[in-house]
Amino acid sequence: MTATNLAAHWMPFTANKGFKEKPRMLSAAKGMYWTTDDQRQVLDMTAGLWCCNAGHGHPHIAEAIAKQARALDYAPSFGFGHELSFELSERLAQLAPGNLNKVFYTNSGSESVDTALKMAMAYHYAKGNTDRQMFISREKAYHGVNFGGVSVAGLTNNYKAFGQWLPNDRLSHTQDLTLNAFSHGLPLHGGIEKANELETLIQRHDASRIAAVIIEPITGAGGVLPPPVGYLKRVREICDQHDILLIFDEVITGFGRTGNVFASQTFDVTPDIMTTAKGLTNGAAPMGAVLAGDHIYDAIVNNSGPGVEFFHGYTYSAHPLACAAAMATLDVYEQEDLYKRGAADGEISQYFEQGLHSLKGLPGVIDVRNYSFIAAVEFEPLAGKPGATGSLVQTSAWEQGLMLRSLGEAIAMSPPLIMEKEHVDQTIGILERSIKQHL
Ligand code: PLP
Repeated sequence: MTATNLAAHWMPFTANKGFKEKPRMLSAAKGMYWTTDDQRQVLDMTAGLWCCNAGHGHPHIAEAIAKQARALDYAPSFGFGHELSFELSERLAQLAPGNLNKVFYTNSGSESVDTALKMAMAYHYAKGNTDRQMFISREKAYHGVNFGGVSVAGLTNNYKAFGQWLPNDRLSHTQDLTLNAFSHGLPLHGGIEKANELETLIQRHDASRIAAVIIEPITGAGGVLPPPVGYLKRVREICDQHDILLIFDEVITGFGRTGNVFASQTFDVTPDIMTTAKGLTNGAAPMGAVLAGDHIYDAIVNNSGPGVEFFHGYTYSAHPLACAAAMATLDVYEQEDLYKRGAADGEISQYFEQGLHSLKGLPGVIDVRNYSFIAAVEFEPLAGKPGATGSLVQTSAWEQGLMLRSLGEAIAMSPPLIMEKEHVDQTIGILERSIKQHL
């Protein structure tokens, strides 16, 4: 165990007191495995925090970052440029669906979300619709932790102490254990009805006040909820009918997690603005990117007079090291054919799906849900201990050499796209033991 003094670091989204009593320290990572400070190998079934999609320690990415640090360590992003960010933007625009051809850089998913919300407001403002300042989001939504993202959040703990400062209303989430428990892939029932709730909210607030609807194509931190069949298309249709923009938060679904570069391609629904981060650099450097449709850029930039058109940006937007990491990451995804590897009907996804659903019938298991390389298992709450089951199973798995994400009464998995069948077997074996032991 570590000899380091742990007192000074106030850790994010962590039970600090618990951690410091019983630290879980990582000292190295390669491929699908972490090495802990006591030299254990731990299988990473979460791709870090849904970000290391090509697995850990890829030499091509590491070398690109090191080389860039020696050549150009920093370039100011306001009023100056460096070539790599333009090359990367071109490449992302080619990978993105529809007319999402304009790329704005941030340093995280949270910043991407706040940037996207501001873009939506600026778009309507530029078109003279200054009343369109309100957003529609969803229950159980996670859109990062900055004030914009918190304002549209649907997870109570993430906003109860901070308020929700942007006008916002929420659609209900799409989870329905009565209709759709143990769905293989997309849930079959209720998609259109759930999407039609948007019409009710539009009637309540009036379309003339609504800037955008923001949605994770697959709800992630809220419990891994793949969209019911037809849901996203119907939401898009309703937005179009009322000139409301659609923002997809693809911070976790981007870069191969659903068998295409973006989930919007998998589900064949193109948003007006798309947020990304995480897998963009394989987690090796902090970076986010917001992809905006040409119509958004035209309204805000091309229709504006001389001078700065969008009063927004970050000191580290398009940071050269992050751009180098992203370029190398895109090389790896392409060279190793990783985008397709996550396809829902692919061999590994199917094997993963079968393994996960074999857990049905174990004590306390009330749902298994999955799509491609993203999955969750949900448990019956323990009497008198709400929210405890996920972390019980996660801790037990960690002790047996498996990293999972705990989300209240569920555990989530978002493995690197390099996962093989042996990793699925190892995961299901440990999960089975943990569930039998603790639930
Ligand atoms: N949006 C979604 C859908 C996310 O899942 C996350 C993080 O998990 C974020 C935004 C925030 O990203 P970050 O932690 O990089 O700020």
